Amino acid sequence: MSNWENNVRKVVPYVPGEQPHYPDMIKLNTNENPYPPAPGVAEVLKALNTDVLRLYPKPDAHELAAAIAEDCGVDFKNVFVGVGSDDVLGTAFLTFFKGKLPVLFPDVTYSFYPVWAELYNIPYETPALDENFRIKKEDYYKPNGGIVIANPNAPTTIAEPLDFIEDIVIHNKDSVVIVDEAYVDFGGETALELTRKYENLLVIRTFSKSRSMAGMRIGFAIGSEKLISYMMAVRNSYNSYTMTTPSILCGEASIKDKAYFRKTVDKITATREKAVPELKKLGFTCLDSSANFLFATHKTVAAKEIFTKLREKHIFVRYFDKPRINNYLRITIGTDEEMQKLYAALSDILK
Ligand code: PMP
Repeated sequence: MSNWENNVRKVVPYVPGEQPHYPDMIKLNTNENPYPPAPGVAEVLKALNTDVLRLYPKPDAHELAAAIAEDCGVDFKNVFVGVGSDDVLGTAFLTFFKGKLPVLFPDVTYSFYPVWAELYNIPYETPALDENFRIKKEDYYKPNGGIVIANPNAPTTIAEPLDFIEDIVIHNKDSVVIVDEAYVDFGGETALELTRKYENLLVIRTFSKSRSMAGMRIGFAIGSEKLISYMMAVRNSYNSYTMTTPSILCGEASIKDKAYFRKTVDKITATREKAVPELKKLGFTCLDSSANFLFATHKTVAAKEIFTKLREKHIFVRYFDKPRINNYLRITIGTDEEMQKLYAALSDILK
């Protein structure tokens, strides 16, 4: 190896789900929303005067942060906006986890958490979920350098109630506790109200799932003014203008259409409730989902085989070749029509 490579920060990156582009595909592999964003978003883009692109965006993403604050019933100073919740989570890891004690998150959870920990040299431990894929809250009672809980958890789809989260926060007054609520709109209980009570609790959300805006890249955090100002200082130490002007204006339009938001979320949860018995008829068991996806295992056929055969038919679901979950498929809820095609393909594969 030449010498310059000794100074390279070598990392093993997170691998996102594939983004294939076939005209006939059914894409149920990255928990995107099958419905378009709120109509106001298209209107903003149509009306966008490109002259606004000459100027830098507002560094505090003002219109968007104000709309989020209003929607969440908090002050503008309690909101941090980023380029998808990945950006917000990455900034939070960098900001809050610089201690010597390990940061704790479950062994089966969003697989980006260990990647940020490695990137920033943050020590971490991954307490095992129990045999039913539930978080054991007692595992989070020991001294630690921070805690990250996805609620609902991914890819397990299971949500824990608010008192469960509060119990973890109460036991961890000396750490920052992050609750990743990427999927909360589909049936979880939000910990937003607890952010008023606990200065060390940060709730992180995204526009990628319930707001159908994965391509626009908007995520946000809600927390005490102190937490948010620490994150702002770190963010402003590497990039002051993370949010583009179109994303600020489109995000604002999405937040303001509460009726459309409710309607699409309700459609997806209704499709999910119909999907569970349909998959059961085909021999699958699904964990109890509060998200826009299902985590399913088949009683006789290996998940990897089903995944591969669906893929050949251009139906994409997610398969993780990892201990404990390598016989499960993560299936994003699509439209009713897409789900019918999935059942037909599965019935063909499994016959
Ligand atoms: N948290 C969880 C649990 C996720 O599954 C995802 C989606 N990959 C994210 C955060 C990040 O989503 P985004 O960056 O699109 O907001």
